[in-house]
Amino acid sequence: MRRLWLIGLIVLTASLPVRAQERLNVGGDRVNVTTLVGPDGDAHVYAPTPADARKIADAKLVIVNGFGLEGWLPRLVQSAGGKASIVTATAGIAPLTLGSDADPHAWQSVANAKTYVGNIRDALVAADPFSAQAFRANAEAYLAKLDTLDGEVRAAVVQIPQTRRKVISTHRAFGYFAAAYGVEFVAPIGVSTESEASARDIAGIITQVRAAKIPAVFLENVSDPRLIRRISAETGARVGGTLYSDSLTAEKGDAPTYIDMVRHNIKALTSALVN
Ligand SMILES: [Zn+2]
Repeated sequence: MRRLWLIGLIVLTASLPVRAQERLNVGGDRVNVTTLVGPDGDAHVYAPTPADARKIADAKLVIVNGFGLEGWLPRLVQSAGGKASIVTATAGIAPLTLGSDADPHAWQSVANAKTYVGNIRDALVAADPFSAQAFRANAEAYLAKLDTLDGEVRAAVVQIPQTRRKVISTHRAFGYFAAAYGVEFVAPIGVSTESEASARDIAGIITQVRAAKIPAVFLENVSDPRLIRRISAETGARVGGTLYSDSLTAEKGDAPTYIDMVRHNIKALTSALVN
């Protein structure tokens, strides 16, 4: 059997170590995947290591999210000198923008995740045409699961009263979720965790939470929890738990796969916002 080496940086290919069958939704057992940014890692500010350059040099395909998420990647690829094809999983998706920055968190809409799957399938087929049939069948099965998941998100949001469909998260990671499913997200930090919230940003959020009676604030697995705890303490908005925005967890965590992540997030949102 031919095996491809693949480097994945994105939530859909998940973080090692996780259950192989669940992780390789499209590649199945025909692909070896190595992930550079591990469980609970922050791809915005990741600092690549020399070992990462060696992994890139060995890879046949490098799958990236795109939209500026992995700003450190071009230099890493250059220093690796590898011949791997770079595949952008968000190709074909119209980006949301915040000022001049593209919002990279496109996977937070399940419809966009389906585009990622199509791009990954096509890249794998091009890299290993002998396995095309398996890749296409795997992708089709996974796309059907994503359709079911999209329906679950819509059914969950319907349970939340319209006036309570607004929350605070730490950084602007849920713009695509908001646009797709109609829940408003407000965040003190922008589309990258590289920046920090200023005192003025935080004061603005506190005013907004009070004025709009935003019922809940959420922690993120990739962000410092202190900011959200302070906003909660000053406004009385309850901390609704953790949302998984950018990164999956290790196998025993709440969100070891993409589907687990979306399910966890809708459960956290409905628990905090319904009634
Ligand atoms: Zn992010």
